Amino acid sequence: MPEHSVVTRFAPSPTGFLHIGNARTCLFSWLYARATGGKFLLRIEDTDRERSTQEAIDAIFEGLTWLGIDWDEEPIYQSARAGRHREVAEQLLTSGNAYRCFATPEELTEMREAARAAGKPPRYDGRWRDRAPGPEHGNQPFTIRLRADQEGETIVRDHVQGDVRFGNDHLDDLVLLRSDGTPTYMLAVVVDDHDMGVSHVVRGDDHLNNAARQMQIIKALGWDAPQYAHVPLIHGPDGAKFSKRHGAQGVREYRDLGYLADAMNNYLLRLGWSYGDHEIISREDAVKWFDLDGINKAAARFDFDKLNHVNAHYIRSRSNEDLLAEVLTLARRLKDWDLDADQTGRLSRALPSLSERASTVVDIIDGADFLITARPIPIEEKAQKLLTSEARTLLAALTDSLEAELKTEGDWTLEAIEAHIRTFADSQELKFGHVAQPIRASCAGKMKSPGIFDVLYALGRAESLARMRDQAG
Ligand code: GLU
Repeated sequence: MPEHSVVTRFAPSPTGFLHIGNARTCLFSWLYARATGGKFLLRIEDTDRERSTQEAIDAIFEGLTWLGIDWDEEPIYQSARAGRHREVAEQLLTSGNAYRCFATPEELTEMREAARAAGKPPRYDGRWRDRAPGPEHGNQPFTIRLRADQEGETIVRDHVQGDVRFGNDHLDDLVLLRSDGTPTYMLAVVVDDHDMGVSHVVRGDDHLNNAARQMQIIKALGWDAPQYAHVPLIHGPDGAKFSKRHGAQGVREYRDLGYLADAMNNYLLRLGWSYGDHEIISREDAVKWFDLDGINKAAARFDFDKLNHVNAHYIRSRSNEDLLAEVLTLARRLKDWDLDADQTGRLSRALPSLSERASTVVDIIDGADFLITARPIPIEEKAQKLLTSEARTLLAALTDSLEAELKTEGDWTLEAIEAHIRTFADSQELKFGHVAQPIRASCAGKMKSPGIFDVLYALGRAESLARMRDQAG
């Protein structure tokens, strides 16, 4: 037995951002390796030199790192392996399992058009299968094609889809090596998976047909096929293929919308995989429980409400310190926040109340804006209206009494603030709301904020009194 019997991989093409659907497939692949004590490898499929970019490669690393998906060994770059791909194509040529095809682009177009006219899928007609090139072909460009089985069937035994049968008469002789000597995707994937020792290919079910073709190449090479798990793609809430019009598509977008990585992992895992009726599944349990056979065959629908719900759960289970770090990291990136110790303290004290209502870290950041604004803070129009001259007089009296009673920042506790304001309202024979409104208007500058005691506590004594004085008459 080899040291690791299970080897899985993620093989993204770096031609754009890291899609959330790819991230989910990657998570499944990673979990399976971790659940079985196997290896998880990363292969960057950058053979399309025109469309592959360094930026897209960076986005893959960044996205996986953010999700906490680590890989074993150095990542493989497919483009660096072109020589090896050519070598295998030559090997197939030598063994008679492949042949040179001199069909011209015009001929291929004709074939495609004839097939289309007959209402059939485009298909190469095998015209060079048994034909040797003449002297006139000496300098002509050629491709190398697989001499594929034409009879019988190819069966993909898939962990998710079950046995999927393909009649070999429907699979034409695919190109392995283009006329410029570059490998096709089909050849490159087969060779790389083999050389990397991949035992289980977990990928999107848009590759199911490719699996049959890849198995033909594998068979011609006399290699063992990996096991397959073709995961259904994600659909939008309306059942159509998940796309931009449904909402964010990129891993980075979700991060910037304020979703926590562990919430995202949990949500993506549950989207298409289940274990009993567990909704909240920790990374630890996921690694313990994950199995390819638990992947649903039906496409899952992306449900934003559920994602928010899961995210809210993870926000509330974070320690104050960890949540503060999340908020600061995101706010630095999105809003250029660069907080001093005083502002950080305010934010930290406000977190428990801000996170109570938040579904995302962005909700927290939006709610926290007023805490870090420099004085005199802007007051929204509706809040302005509350600051009548009577209210300003009241504020002045309240500020005096708070200042006299709670003398130091140390005295400024939630309990003491609440007790003092309630006593003050009673002594003035005022309803609590009557006192609370001008406090909120002066300290938060808006009508919606955490509870008034939480606001004052978070701001601290000096800042609260100063904000109230700014509006006091
Ligand atoms: N590079 C292919 C893609 O991004 C995946 C190939 C594979 O997983 O076999 O769709």
